[in-house]
Amino acid sequence: ENSCTDELLAEANTSILFVANRPQVVMERGEGMYLWDTNEKKYLDFIGGWAVTSLGHSPKVISDALLEQSSKLVNASPGFFNKPMVEFARLLTGLTGLERVFFGSTGAEANESAIKLARKYGTVRKNGAYEIITAKRSFHGRSLATTAATGKAGWEHMFAPQLPGFVKVPFNDIEAMKQAITPHTCAIFVELIQGEGGVYEADPAYIQALRTLCDEQGILLMFDEVQTGIGRTGTMFAYEHYGVMPDVLTLAKGIGGGFPLSAMLTKEAYNLFEAGDQGGTYTGQPLAMAVGLAVVGEVLQRKLPQQAAEQGAYLLQKLHAIKEQYGVTDIRGKGLLLAFDLPEPRGAELAAACLHAGLLINSSGPSTIRLMPALIVSKAEIDEMMTLLCSVMDQIFV
Ligand code: PMP
Repeated sequence: ENSCTDELLAEANTSILFVANRPQVVMERGEGMYLWDTNEKKYLDFIGGWAVTSLGHSPKVISDALLEQSSKLVNASPGFFNKPMVEFARLLTGLTGLERVFFGSTGAEANESAIKLARKYGTVRKNGAYEIITAKRSFHGRSLATTAATGKAGWEHMFAPQLPGFVKVPFNDIEAMKQAITPHTCAIFVELIQGEGGVYEADPAYIQALRTLCDEQGILLMFDEVQTGIGRTGTMFAYEHYGVMPDVLTLAKGIGGGFPLSAMLTKEAYNLFEAGDQGGTYTGQPLAMAVGLAVVGEVLQRKLPQQAAEQGAYLLQKLHAIKEQYGVTDIRGKGLLLAFDLPEPRGAELAAACLHAGLLINSSGPSTIRLMPALIVSKAEIDEMMTLLCSVMDQIFV
């Protein structure tokens, strides 16, 4: 077994283009809250496929949906509608009240679609306005347009020349936002909780003020709910915490439960694309549509948003209980998108030690640990995580 893994790793380290410092592990299978590597080592997963595995690993509803749909129709062509596409659109438009949906495969693709729609809106409705205001510390994806939209420090000059037309302002600062608006502004694009940025929540008053500002100025309000959507924060969509509806909403990650699937939703009033403006070979891909329908249906049926709220509150309480002992600060987040800061910038070291101990946690920032388990996580699994986490912290923080 070991030599097989060593061979796979040696090959992976030379054949897979380097894009990230991956640990020397090859994952092989998953079930519920657990993953197993090629050495049969078991991991308790509090990364959840990066806030993706809503239903846990390898849920039966996904394999059933794939089996059924693939025996009927794998792919007609993006030039045709298909049945699961219509059904899935009905489900999402019904849930959000946004009447129109464009389907993609990744979060970046949904966000590209939102950016293109905002520019189209500016072109046809607002005298050629094209500027989109985003927040500092935001993350919107790794395609060229979403890289330019992203407000991560250090990304300003990445892959220069960047796509122009993005203006970045401090998050949660309504005055800075007001000052950034020009006659060229067509949209404001924000996350409600900055996930990759380290789990920082928008203030309700800020989001409500953005809605008013957008209405006054004739600017689109767009929410990137790629990470926060589909139950993650304890409600189906994070905007429910704010009582504010966006004009454009992007979803990915949890919507496919691990299958590549994303969506950009908007109002009928912004059904502005002309033929060919946006598309893609896999828009409305039947397998993805069938999976999305099954995953979102299951999330609703099992009331997983409520469950995420409950288990998230339990996990928060457990984190608060170890606060003093480990000098942990700023415990934050909503539902099952939580984070805390360590007293020292040793997040990567802690995550690596946890991996070694069979626990997957995410270090998102030098001192920040982020937890984003599947929505199905149980209290017993939270207890198991806390025991593992504390034993690792006892070892490395002596
Ligand atoms: N937006 C947000 C808020 C995200 O968290 C991510 C992924 N971490 C993306 C966009 C990009 O999604 P994808 O990796 O599927 O392109």
